[in-house]
Amino acid sequence: MTSTMRPQTPIKLSPRNPGDVYPHDLQLYQNVPFGEVTLNELEEICETRLKVLSLVERIHLKKLTMSVSQRKAALVEKLREEGMDKFATLVDSPGCKSHTDTDICARRNDHISHLILRSVVAFNAFKKHWFLKQEARLFKWRFSSLDNEGVRQFMCVNNFVFTPISQSEKEDIREYLRISSPHVSDIDSTQFYRIPFSHVASLIKKRKVFIMQGEAFITEQEMAFVFVSHFRRILISGFEIAREARANLYNDERFTRIFANLENVIHTESTILVQEPEILQYVSLNQLDMLAETSYPLCMRVLHRVLKKDHHLTHGGRIQYGLFLKGIGISFSDSMTFWKGEFMKKMDEATFIKEKHSYNIRFNYGLEGSRRDYQPYTCQKIMESSVGPRDNHGCPFKHMLHDILEDELTDCGFNALERSTIMELSKNGQYSAACNKCYEIKHNCFNDTLFKHPNIYFNESVKHRISDHYDPETGDAY
Ligand code: SF4
Repeated sequence: MTSTMRPQTPIKLSPRNPGDVYPHDLQLYQNVPFGEVTLNELEEICETRLKVLSLVERIHLKKLTMSVSQRKAALVEKLREEGMDKFATLVDSPGCKSHTDTDICARRNDHISHLILRSVVAFNAFKKHWFLKQEARLFKWRFSSLDNEGVRQFMCVNNFVFTPISQSEKEDIREYLRISSPHVSDIDSTQFYRIPFSHVASLIKKRKVFIMQGEAFITEQEMAFVFVSHFRRILISGFEIAREARANLYNDERFTRIFANLENVIHTESTILVQEPEILQYVSLNQLDMLAETSYPLCMRVLHRVLKKDHHLTHGGRIQYGLFLKGIGISFSDSMTFWKGEFMKKMDEATFIKEKHSYNIRFNYGLEGSRRDYQPYTCQKIMESSVGPRDNHGCPFKHMLHDILEDELTDCGFNALERSTIMELSKNGQYSAACNKCYEIKHNCFNDTLFKHPNIYFNESVKHRISDHYDPETGDAY
């Protein structure tokens, strides 16, 4: 506090019995806080929450291929390492088994800090978006800690009346449940709930839920989808009130200073926004070999393979592949390291510079020449490329000689029958359909919309591989 501030008068919040207000470790933050809090304490608990949210973001970006519970475990470990034990306990809590003063105090701090930070970000679209993303993730990770009783209590406390289906009902629809929930190893011991289908739009879109007479049948674990959606709706509608609350405090210098300080702590630039705004990705160079095998479309897989083998690509290949890498989230400095690392296996640094390779990489990232933010090529543009005999760019389904294409498909691991299906599409001029067929076979799924962009192919593949239960609302695997 500065010397111009008024003395520390605790802020009076509505007086209620703490035990009644905080019956559960996981909250939807729908009530008004109660009790008293000093300004210093307020600032401190909000700063702690911001640290937690930054950790959530960092762990999410770095551990893209981990499941929700693995990320949650990484968060708990990091929180303990950094001395935020109370928050770690909340994140790791199975529900509401204990109600000591310490538990109630942690829940109260969780509640107050969340609501204050809603007001802090309410006037800044980027910070609001960041806050919403991290809070939704945190909520989902915390939900993954709940045991069966914790989930039931959570539903009870928040007035959700979703009914578990009986054993005889399960018997009647067993086959449908088995098909819609292939991840469930034992249908008998798994609790399924019937809920209105409108709560699980994302699961329906991915055809991962059985629907009958307007009701969806989902497992207790999948309830996270329902509650995260609900939580996001609460948060989005709550921003309006949060804005008003902050506007009402404009004349109170104590709050304006705290709000300004907290707002300055939030840095949203670390987030890398790629092709689809909803998918946040961090891709590191040492993942590229693996991703080329699992998630690259054939055009990029070929370029990656040739570059690794020959340590060189012709101009068209360098642009096509360089922009693709930029699109999947490779930073400028990583890109420079990558290209230099390959090319300098065959040339020295002076030649690398003289042949303008570093200039061209800088150019792709808008750091030279017209300084435009060049975007990765679409399939149409790639298919329209002019490709000579020494080139490896372009669309393999259109530009490659048939016997070479077949060899590439063999190298990808397609069997004879799969190769002949793909080759036929390619020979018939159905290049996108051939590419789509490769995707379907590799990912063992149906894909009814043909890809028009290699980066969309990549994004879809990563989402698919993270888990069968990718959640578009948080960008998380379930
Ligand atoms: S269809 Fe598009 S994504 Fe697929 S290989 Fe051709 S250019 Fe690449």
